[in-house]
Amino acid sequence: MTRSRVFHRSLRATPPVAVRGQGAWLYDQSGRAYLDGSGGAAVSCLGHNHPDVLAAMHAQIDALAYAHTSFFTTEAAESLAAMLVEDAPASTSHAYFVSGGSEAIEAALKMARQYYVEIGQPGRRHIVARRQSYHGNTLGALAVGGNAWRRAQFAPLLIEVEHVSPCYAYRDQREGESEEQYAARLADELEQTFQRLGPDSVMAFVAEPVVGATLGAVTAVSTYFRRVREVCDRHGVLLIADEVMCGMGRSGTLYAVEQEGVTPDLITIAKGLGGGYQPIGAVMAQERIVRAIEQGSGFFQHGHTYLGHATACAAALAVQQVIRRDGLLERVRAQGAGLRQRLERAFGDHPHVGDIRGRGLFMGLELVTDRASKQTFDPALSLHARVKREAMARGLMVYPMGGTIDGRHGDHVLLAPPFIVSDDELDQLTERLAGAIHAAIAQARG
Ligand code: PLP
Repeated sequence: MTRSRVFHRSLRATPPVAVRGQGAWLYDQSGRAYLDGSGGAAVSCLGHNHPDVLAAMHAQIDALAYAHTSFFTTEAAESLAAMLVEDAPASTSHAYFVSGGSEAIEAALKMARQYYVEIGQPGRRHIVARRQSYHGNTLGALAVGGNAWRRAQFAPLLIEVEHVSPCYAYRDQREGESEEQYAARLADELEQTFQRLGPDSVMAFVAEPVVGATLGAVTAVSTYFRRVREVCDRHGVLLIADEVMCGMGRSGTLYAVEQEGVTPDLITIAKGLGGGYQPIGAVMAQERIVRAIEQGSGFFQHGHTYLGHATACAAALAVQQVIRRDGLLERVRAQGAGLRQRLERAFGDHPHVGDIRGRGLFMGLELVTDRASKQTFDPALSLHARVKREAMARGLMVYPMGGTIDGRHGDHVLLAPPFIVSDDELDQLTERLAGAIHAAIAQARG
C-alpha cells in the first residue's frame, strides 16, 4: 500500500477509509458497517446524512457559501443566534460563532478578560479550572484543561492556570460524607484558591457541567454548581460552563447546565451544535458582558477568518430545527434511560466495571481490576486502546480514554450515540461493547 501523506493522529496506523454514512452507521471502503456508539467524539447528534441538514446546506451553498463577517452578516447566522439565545439560560443575549470547541474556549477567555478591562478591573487575570477536565488543544484551551498527560510536554508554552479538584464522587466523595458536604468541601477549596490568588485578581472559573473526554461522563453532585456559583458571585468571578461536549441536548436538555439550577456568565458550545455536518462552535454570552463591551470600546478585540461561516451556520440551524421539530430532547431522555438500563443489565455485576454513569445519551463506564478496591489497570497495558480496537473489530465506535483518575492511571469508555438511535441499535451497542471489553481484558491479562 502506498504511504498515506495525511499526517494522521497516529503515525503508526492508518485508519480505515470512511466512504458513507447513514443514520447511526458509518461504512468503510471495504463495505464494513460501524455502529456509531460515540457520535465520533459526541458530535453526530442526528446521525449521518440527515436529509434536512443536507438540504439546508445545499440551499445555502447554492446561494452563498461564505461572506467575511467584517463585511456582512447572513440570515443563517442571525436565525441561528436568535434560536440559541431564545432557549438559553435567562439573560443570555448573544451568540459569538467560531469553528469548534477550542476556538470557543479561546474566545470565552478573551471575552472574560476584555469584560473586566472594559469595566475598569484590569487586574483580573487569573483563570481557575479543574483537574481532569478537557477544554481543547489550542494553547489557551490546553492550559485551562486539567489533564496532566495532555499538558506535560507543552507545559513550558502554557499560560498560568490554577487547577482545583473535579467533582468526582465515585472516587473522591468520602465515606459517610453527604452530597451536600462533598459539594461544600469543593466549594471551600475553590474559595481558598481564590483567596490565595487574591480574589480581585481572578477572572474566571471554567468547568464542564458533565465532564466528558477525560473523566467519562461524570456528573456533579446535586448542589455542587450552586455552591460554585455562590463562590464566584461573592468575588465577582465569571463562571464559564464548557458545554462543548455535554451541551446541545446530549445530556437531555439543550444546555446541560439547565439541570444544575445556575446561570453561567458564558457558555461554550460546539460538537452537537452542527452535529458534524460543518465545523462550528459558539460562545453564548450574558447581556451584561455584551453591554459592557458595547458601551465601552464597542467591539470585541478578537476574530477569525471563518467566524460565523454561512454554510456552517446554515447546517447548525437545520440541526437545531430538527431537534426541536422532532422532539429529540425527549428522545435523548427516553433512549438515554434505555441505554442506562441496558448497561446496568450487562455490566451492573461485571467484575471490571466499577462505575456506570452519565446523563441522557452521554454515558461512561469506568474499568477497574477489582470493584471493591477500585484499583486501576496498569497504564502500560493501555486497556482503553484495546477496548477501542476490539470495538472497531466488532463494528462499533466507542470513545475510550486512559488516565481517568490522574492523567495516567484509570480507563473509561465514553458512549454518545446519535439522538435518533433505535432500541435495536442500543441492544447491538451493548452486546458489541460487552464483547469488546471482555476481549480487551482477556488480552491485557495475557
Ligand atoms: N471542550 C470540551 C468540553 C471538549 O470535550 C472539547 C473536545 O472534545 C473541546 C472543548 C475542544 O473542542 P474541539 O475539539 O472542537 O476544538
